[in-house]
This record gives sequence, structure tokens and C-alpha cells, in this order.
Amino acid sequence: MSVRDEFDFIKKVQPATLHHSGLIGIGDDAAIFSVDARFEQIVCVDTMVEDKHFLPTTMSPYHIGYKALAANISDIAAMGGIPQYYLVSISIPSNWKESELLEIYDGLKKAGDEYKMDLIGGDTTSTHSKLVISVTAIGKVEAGRRLLRSNAEEGDVVFVSGTLGDAQGGLDVLLEGNKEVQGQNSYLIRRHQTPTPRVTLGRILSQFTRVSLNDVSDGLVSELKEISNASNVNMVIDSETIPYSRALLEYNNEKALKWALTGGEDFELVGTISKENWKQLSAICEKENIPLSNIGYVQRGKGKVYIRNKNGELEEVSDSGYNHFFS
Ligand code: ADP
Ligand code: MG
Repeated sequence: MSVRDEFDFIKKVQPATLHHSGLIGIGDDAAIFSVDARFEQIVCVDTMVEDKHFLPTTMSPYHIGYKALAANISDIAAMGGIPQYYLVSISIPSNWKESELLEIYDGLKKAGDEYKMDLIGGDTTSTHSKLVISVTAIGKVEAGRRLLRSNAEEGDVVFVSGTLGDAQGGLDVLLEGNKEVQGQNSYLIRRHQTPTPRVTLGRILSQFTRVSLNDVSDGLVSELKEISNASNVNMVIDSETIPYSRALLEYNNEKALKWALTGGEDFELVGTISKENWKQLSAICEKENIPLSNIGYVQRGKGKVYIRNKNGELEEVSDSGYNHFFS
């Protein structure tokens, strides 16, 4: 894209209205927003690369935008935060049309509006390679609240929100390429293309002391490994308690466990909380209609994750998260 086009393009993606007031957004050298002394800032960035993180056959431009921001919002949720602003850096190959790029921004805007986030800046470059989109998100959390991976202790309950494996199931449906199968599995496809980050649950969890938390971006066992390593504890997960959607079980009962454990991109929240606080947490979630499952417990140890299979046998998950019993 030429410089002239770029100027025009930025004007087209600039939001007409903002959720936040007192803000310098797109149009100057940098953005300026005010900060509240009672809060701390949360900042994260996620990059998606064409053909590596998405395929034109499984993700439309709109979905690419939606998911790029949703993944960042999920990271803010995993810190117990309130999402506020985002910036978008995009490297554009010559074969991408402006209309497709604007669709990416439609997807970004949809996700942003759902969480009252404003687009406050970005950067635009051309590339001779594939499309790259990098989204930086900014949020805030009350000072002193820390939902760190290192917070797990012996005796804690391990919990996970929602259902697992759906995003991987949805990708499988899309790659299958059968229109009839796709029509019957629109729920799984939605879970892959337009994931819903768990911001409300993150906010609830931020009010408890000593919660460890991760969002499920890489897969359940990988997230559990991160928490058990950071906290220097072991975890025991009961495979029979892992939550599945009915849609996933109907689509592929056999692969459900593997996809739940290693599929990733479900953007649910997984973590640990003390036994005493678990009762209160699950009561709040029940009232708020947020599905939350107790899937195991924390043991003394050093970074190992065990899964109890349906025969009651304990199996250790390897460092890579791969386990031959589940493949
Ligand atoms: P500068 O030369 O000062 O970096 P730019 O021309 O890169 O200015 O950007 C002008 C304005 O447009 C800035 O506010 C910048 O944050 C914003 N901007 C540039 N590219 C994008 C983009 N792809 N998405 C959103 N905002 C953008
Ligand atoms: Mg610039």
C-alpha cells in the first residue's frame, strides 16, 4: 500500500465514537489516556501470522480481527482485569484488498465494543510476506490484586470455567470441509472463530485472595504445567470431571478428551483456589450463571501434573503436555 493509501486507511479504521472520555486516540504521534491511582495497568500483546495462526479457509478477515482482540482480552481476564484500550500493528501483503483489511477491523471493533474497549492507535506497514497482525491490549486491575501463576498451594481446588475442546473441535469441523457437517456444528465453529473471554469470572476471582490463574490458550495440560511449575507444586486432575459441551461429544466423543487436554484456544480460565474459598466462589458463579468445574487438587511436589484416567489409574503428563494415553 502507498503512503497515500495508508493515510486514507487509518482514517477509515479510526473509531467514530469512543467508550472512554478524556482520551487522545488515533491521529497524533501517540495516544494519551488518564490513569486511576487506585488501579494498576495491565498490558499484553499477541501476534497472529497468516498460515501459521490462521488459514484463509478457516478464518474470514472478520474472524481474524475478532479473535486477535479476544485472545488479548482473555489475557487481561486471566489477571482479573477490566479491558480498556487496544492498539493494532498490521503488516500488509500486496494481495490483501483494502475491503478485507477493513473487515478485520470490523471484527476487532465487534470484540472491542462487547468489552467497551477503544482502539487508540497502531502502525501500518507493507510486507512482501504473509499478513501479520499484532494487537496490544491495555486494562486495569485494583492495586494489589495479583492472580499469579505462582499462587497455588497444597490442598487447593483446581477449577476450570466453561467447556474444553470446543475450539479444536470447531477447527476440525472446518478442516473437514463438509458443508453439511459444518451446518450441524455451528456452535463448535463459533467457539473456534469468535471465542468469548471470561472477563466477568476474572473480575469475580480478583476479589479472592491467593488465586492462581491462567487462560486456556495453549491447552489445559500446558496451562496446568505452567501453574504447577511457577508454584512448585503437583496437580492431580480427574479426567472424568473435565467439562465438555454436548456439541463436542456429539461431534466426536473419542477425540473430546485429547482436544480438551491439548487443543487450546478455548479461552476459558483455569486456576486454583483454597478449599475454603472454593465453596463461596462456586456459589457466586452459580448465581451469576458462570459454569465452573472442580477438576482436581494441588499436592506437594515440584511441577508435575497427573491425570486420573477413567480406570482410576494416575498418569503423569510429560513436559511437552503430550501423553500417549490421550493421543
Ligand atoms: P507516526 O508516523 O507518528 O508513527 P502514523 O502515520 O504511523 O504516525 O500513525 C498515525 C496515527 O494513526 C497514530 O495515531 C497511529 O497510532 C494511528 N495508526 C497507524 N496505523 C494504525 C493502524 N493500523 N490501526 C490503528 N491505528 C493506526
Ligand atoms: Mg507509525
